[in-house]
Amino acid sequence: MSMRKRTLLKVIVLGDSGVGKTSLMNQYVHMKFTQQYKATIGADFVTTELQIDDRDVTLQIWDTAGQERFQSLGVAFYRGADCCVLVYDVNVMKSFDSLDNWHEEFLKQANPTDPRTFPFILLGNKIDVDGGNTRVVSEKKAKDWCASKENIPYFETSAKEDINVDVAFHCIAKTALVNEREQDIYFQGIPDAVNETEQRGGCAC
Ligand code: GDP
Ligand code: MG
Repeated sequence: MSMRKRTLLKVIVLGDSGVGKTSLMNQYVHMKFTQQYKATIGADFVTTELQIDDRDVTLQIWDTAGQERFQSLGVAFYRGADCCVLVYDVNVMKSFDSLDNWHEEFLKQANPTDPRTFPFILLGNKIDVDGGNTRVVSEKKAKDWCASKENIPYFETSAKEDINVDVAFHCIAKTALVNEREQDIYFQGIPDAVNETEQRGGCAC
């Protein structure tokens, strides 16, 4: 068993159902996009390793199993989050209007020590759709929302066309490092404790 010093960062992805949360994560972690709509089932997070400056970082990215549609996500989902990624669809006004609720819900559930400095990031997804003709939320509107919330970083993305996905997740990792929990991990895949937490928290569908 090898021992390496890594920084583990828990990133959670929130937003209305259908905005592309799972697709963004898959595009980033597996570099693939699937057209078919499928609610996320099974594994609640994926891990991926990267380097930020001279630091070895493991990003643990938590996705919902589709529960965002009809029930709350449970404490295990939010517990210990280092960064919260909010996603909306630039073609669906309702998904933008929901951002306040997701932001508020996160702060309520995760209860970070300092809500004003907790790292959020906003992704406006599906910018590829119909060459931008069906877009209803302007970049300015999104940036104004970010400015009203302690200057949240903003990226416009397409999980389908792989636009800005790497850049956004790199920024997410950097932002999350602000809230780091440095630990020595005897890293053999996924730490058991996390698995147990996940099952106890009822995050799996
Ligand atoms: P989630 O419910 O937020 O996890 O959304 P999904 O990732 O399951 O995506 C919902 C639907 O939108 C699926 O049919 C995806 O293929 C599609 N989708 C996701 N991202 C994009 C994108 O950037 N562009 C386009 N055109 N479709 C996307
Ligand atoms: Mg999903």
